[in-house]
Amino acid sequence: MSWYVVCTNCGRDDVPADQLLAACPNCGGEWLDPRYDYDRLGRVMREETAARPCTMWRFREWLPVHDDDHIVTMGEGGTPLLRLKNLSLMLGVPNLYLKDERQGPTASFKDRQASLAISVLREHGVREVVVASTGNVAISYSAYAAQAGIKLWTFLTSSVPADKMREVALYGSEVVKVTATYDRTKQVAARFAEQRGLFLDRGIKGMAARESMKTIAYEIAQQLGWRSPDWYIQAVSGGLGPVGVLKGFWELREMGLVETMPKIACIQAAGCAPMVKAWEQGLSKPVVVDSPQTLITTVATGDPGIAYEILYQAAVEHGGAFVAVTDEEAFRAMHVMAKMDGFSMEPAAAMACAGAIKMIRQGLIRPDETVVICCSGHTFPVEKHLLEENWSHHLDLSAEEVVAEEVEEPTPAMAAREEGLLTSFEELGGDVRRIAIVEDDEPARVLLRRILQAYGDFEIFEAADGRQGIQMIREVEPDVVLLDLMMPEVDGYQVLEAIKSDPKLQHIPVIVITAARLSAQERKRLDGHVRSLLQKGQFVDRELLESIQAMF
Ligand SMILES: *Cc1c(COP(=O)(O)O)cnc(C)c1O
Ligand SMILES: [Zn+2]
Repeated sequence: MSWYVVCTNCGRDDVPADQLLAACPNCGGEWLDPRYDYDRLGRVMREETAARPCTMWRFREWLPVHDDDHIVTMGEGGTPLLRLKNLSLMLGVPNLYLKDERQGPTASFKDRQASLAISVLREHGVREVVVASTGNVAISYSAYAAQAGIKLWTFLTSSVPADKMREVALYGSEVVKVTATYDRTKQVAARFAEQRGLFLDRGIKGMAARESMKTIAYEIAQQLGWRSPDWYIQAVSGGLGPVGVLKGFWELREMGLVETMPKIACIQAAGCAPMVKAWEQGLSKPVVVDSPQTLITTVATGDPGIAYEILYQAAVEHGGAFVAVTDEEAFRAMHVMAKMDGFSMEPAAAMACAGAIKMIRQGLIRPDETVVICCSGHTFPVEKHLLEENWSHHLDLSAEEVVAEEVEEPTPAMAAREEGLLTSFEELGGDVRRIAIVEDDEPARVLLRRILQAYGDFEIFEAADGRQGIQMIREVEPDVVLLDLMMPEVDGYQVLEAIKSDPKLQHIPVIVITAARLSAQERKRLDGHVRSLLQKGQFVDRELLESIQAMF
């Protein structure tokens, strides 16, 4: 056998690996940890895995299943590590990445867990399983259980969105809706399993669950060219993800593939933040939350237990953070991620992004650090409360005259219909502000354009240097100018002078956007001429829009 099992409580390293044990036969400890032949496997990981199919099973030797025939796989893991181009630029942190776990078979990182856990259950001949879940585990386990021929009883808290529950039922699992907190739901599920004599999934206490999550660490290190990021940031409920990821980086270090451990940032919902509360008070045990107050049920674990103790130790040893974000901040981050870089994700995943944004703005993350945000899932249709009233345009064409399409010459009826259509298009527009952007740096220009496009109905004009900028402003007489100061040849100061010395243009408000902090002298040159000053990498979308809105 190429792996063996250690009891982290009593330290014995000969715990039987061929049985599904819930506890150490020696001491009763519940935290059993598989170990591998790291001396030999370091070379295999570095030299052989990259050529294998891109799923988490490329790391087969590091996953505790004995027989390949028992593996249940649907192509989980092997997810891309993607650069957040616009967000990086906006926040002034160039090396910002998203680990895109939406790209799993059921669209969350629980697919890794389900694949390994269901494989192990199949290996041990288990046919019927009970699992408690805040939604995504139930969905993912259901899919894999279907394939493995295992019957699943899922216990879900009643606050799990109905869409998620329906998906669980679709896969043929039994859905038990429990009106209680998630922690209580777990107890009820355990009681049911005991009473029926069924196997209970032990969540983070199960070896398979943790071992599956460590593949996220392997993949990130491989994707970064065998090094650790400075930060791994994830929205956390029970803490399975970060605990598994920690183990992964620990193993990578044992195998000599990376030198450092990353700092782990656990992002929790402000209304259910047992880890954050404990961390802020310097406690090594969680401050249990009895009645979670968050709309984001996916992360509503009030008592993370030993997971926090492990994460706390790691944070003390290697650095790390526990940060709370409100539901509103998470929902706002959903908009930012989708609008800035095109990533739509469920609220739980957006929490990690909200946390990252917060940490960057608070200076907890330095601009030169490499940051990986886990986009943990997207199994959730966008809910009503996320959008404002007028999020869609409506074209009512019911009054249109029906005309035959096949005539050569346009008929008067066709002309009338065309005119009606144009009128309704105009109604879609309303009062559109005209904004001129003068900026020589292309990515910065794209970011500014993107913010304007995403949040409002603006007519946008762009110039890539000062000379073009002056000409453009004279031609279009915009409502607002967004102006970069540092440009070759004709710089921003000269553009500003041109605007302010022209009677036709001098009323136009100018918002200066600079790369560097200005000296007192430079500020003096701008005095009285600019309405607002923003520093690149130091403002977010909302702040730019507020500056613009303040002009009217
Ligand atoms: C389960 C889940 C989390 C929380 O993960 P843990 O590591 O178990 O705390 C976060 N986001 C999504 C989408 C999840 O499904
Ligand atoms: Zn033991």
